[in-house]
Amino acid sequence: MLLLKNGKILENGVLVSKDILVKDKKIIKIEDKIENLEAEVLDLSGKFVSPGFIDVHVHWREPGFEYKENIYHASRAAARGGFTTAMPMPNLDPVPDNYENLKLQLDIIERDSVIRALPYGAITKGEQGKDYAEFEELVDHVFAFSDDGRGVQDANMMYESMMIAAKLNKAIVAHCEDNSLIRGGCMHCGRRSRELELPGIPSICESVQIARDVLLAEAAGCHYHVCHVSTKESVRVIKEAKAAGIKVTCEVCPHHLISDEMDIPEDNGMWKMNPPLRSREDRNALIAGLLDGTIDIIATDHAPHATHEKDLTMRKAAFGIVGSETAFSQLYTKFVKTGIFSLDFLVKLMSEKVADIFGLPYGKLEENSYADLVVIDLEKSLIIDPEKFLSKGRNTPYIGEKIYGIPVLTLSEGKVAYKDEEVFDIYSYK
Ligand SMILES: [Zn+2]
Repeated sequence: MLLLKNGKILENGVLVSKDILVKDKKIIKIEDKIENLEAEVLDLSGKFVSPGFIDVHVHWREPGFEYKENIYHASRAAARGGFTTAMPMPNLDPVPDNYENLKLQLDIIERDSVIRALPYGAITKGEQGKDYAEFEELVDHVFAFSDDGRGVQDANMMYESMMIAAKLNKAIVAHCEDNSLIRGGCMHCGRRSRELELPGIPSICESVQIARDVLLAEAAGCHYHVCHVSTKESVRVIKEAKAAGIKVTCEVCPHHLISDEMDIPEDNGMWKMNPPLRSREDRNALIAGLLDGTIDIIATDHAPHATHEKDLTMRKAAFGIVGSETAFSQLYTKFVKTGIFSLDFLVKLMSEKVADIFGLPYGKLEENSYADLVVIDLEKSLIIDPEKFLSKGRNTPYIGEKIYGIPVLTLSEGKVAYKDEEVFDIYSYK
């Protein structure tokens, strides 16, 4: 047993001091004061205790791309960021489009992951968009279905996949990108791409496919979740779809909230991601969309790459940046410390609301819930230094930024998944 004393939890949006008793995988008691002689006691001395975060969008790269990242490192990186549940995307080798392929990934998760990992199954075979994945044999073992990394181009393929997903009671989680509109772009098509004389990806490349898909989802009656929304038009389409009663939800990534095209200082591949950093207007629409509930949750799109794939020009670099280890702290620094979001609002976007929209039994700190929690020192700050990441990926454009609100201890199902050695010495408790 582990007794966490003097931590502060959010109760109706207010921080209150509570003791939390953890036994095996569960929280068994939360009270003002708990005395228990058998438990190992850890004094949190006023630090914030949050439900463990849930990230529905990570690239853990294994099996197939272990030179970029693997499950051992990615899960530790996620735990360090306060995540206790993560959903690895299926753009792997082999692609988990049947049970045999998925089993390879499940076995590595079982062996190496320090947090709960619920993988996706692919929508189409090999994510090639030509033939359906084996939905029936995957359904009991996957979180949802996605072809993330690319859009499903064929409308009928998406429509039929949605009908199958609806029957199986799973969500279709879509990376929306119309290939005919990419136009060879490597960043957002806007003011900054013109200044840097680089080919741009227009906003319609994303929004057009979302518009198609919400109508398909309406016809199919499936839960349709949009990945990494990045444009103001996407927000508008989703808002209208929700108003029409269509079962659509969506996520936004920290980098699209924090940065926009004008923050890209030069032709540097470290700033390349898909979807790209859009205009300031788009960024403002994303923040407004979160505040008015059009955008449901935050997900990182943690996308590690090897140095040789990112230390290149915009044209040549791979798409994606890492995010697991800095997501909460960056958002806390930019939005909570500045008074734009309350702490409660941010925490829910990364935990309770994620569980709610996908019907997961996680995301809350309460008696009899899983002991998935993260202890955060809201006063502590650090400077982002990729050399100190637990992820194998070093690809972040935010090197040298000062962030506040640093996770110092993460428990996943009652087990220590991450601890800051300088803050906590937990020897006997595992
Ligand atoms: Zn994607």
